[in-house]
Amino acid sequence: MSKKVLYTFLAVIMLASLVLAACGSSAGDAPAAGDTKLVGISMPTKTSTRWISDGESMVKEFEAMGYQTDLQFADDDIPNQLAQIENMITKGANVLVIAAIDGSTLTDALAKAKEAGVLVIAYDRLLVNSENVDYYATFDNFGVGVIMGSQIEEGLDLKNAEGPFNIELFGGSPDDTNAFYFYDGAMSVLQPYIDSGKLVVQSGQMGMDKVSTLRWDGIVAQARMENLLSAYYTDKRVDAVLSPYDGLSIGIISALKSVGYGSADQPMPVITGQDAEIASIKAMIAGEQTYTVFKDTRELAKQTAAMVDAALKGQEVPINDTKTYDNGVKVVPSYLLTPFSVDITNYEKYLVESGYYTADQLK
Ligand code: BGC
Repeated sequence: MSKKVLYTFLAVIMLASLVLAACGSSAGDAPAAGDTKLVGISMPTKTSTRWISDGESMVKEFEAMGYQTDLQFADDDIPNQLAQIENMITKGANVLVIAAIDGSTLTDALAKAKEAGVLVIAYDRLLVNSENVDYYATFDNFGVGVIMGSQIEEGLDLKNAEGPFNIELFGGSPDDTNAFYFYDGAMSVLQPYIDSGKLVVQSGQMGMDKVSTLRWDGIVAQARMENLLSAYYTDKRVDAVLSPYDGLSIGIISALKSVGYGSADQPMPVITGQDAEIASIKAMIAGEQTYTVFKDTRELAKQTAAMVDAALKGQEVPINDTKTYDNGVKVVPSYLLTPFSVDITNYEKYLVESGYYTADQLK
């Protein structure tokens, strides 16, 4: 064999082995030991834009760190989420990052994950009734509620005004532990005003057992607000509405508009929200929604990727809370990020200048 032929032969063999190696690690295959690690990302729904941003930011962060990802949205359907997670385990995921629809429904799947050696991260929503949750990445959820209560305090100038003012309270989904933290945080500010009579809940509906909104459903909140208005406010004005999520706020605003709020004679009440969703920022610009709470999902995604990477490399995992989040079986080590109060005066700074939205998206 001439030297030239030999070199060509070797070059062909090298090329072939490179091609084979590349095929072996193609996305979608179960990763073999020592191969690229696969992160299953299970998000609850696409109906709220925040979860889409969370999912997309995580894919970006994990892929930049050299992980493969499998991102699924479960359409707020519990069996669907369960099937998607089981499928991720079967495909050989090394990590599961889960924002649960109902944090108590995944216990069996999490047990299977643990048997398979999968690292489990509860993402923004706590996974309860399971020992098989390694870490929790979220925001200061009680703090989110405190922001909402303080927004109402500011919006009505409760520290100085005489009142009394009428308020109605809405809670989030009772199968999401966050909803209780949000409500309790808000009430830590509002309850003293209710006790003193400066704030009056005309319906008398207080407590998560009376004010919660299953699946964070805006249509359910709209119907409840319509009922409250026709039962308690035909001859009175509602001055504030505590709403823990922008999707509920939009439903509440529709109910209020349908009975004439939002005019010069009958201005909108002070209305809170959460997530800085585009529809709510537009409603804020239109003078309909007063406040929201911005939780930067890009930061949560980055934090989650950092926690996963450290855990898989056997390094110290960044956490800043080891006391708050008892899931019924254990206190889950957590990292809590800071939420921000957003209103008409600062939305551009938090949302546009930071690149979270473009100015055009808010037109
Ligand atoms: C999240 C909130 C969100 C709500 C509805 C909660 O678990 O923390 O940011 O508004 O779910 O999607």
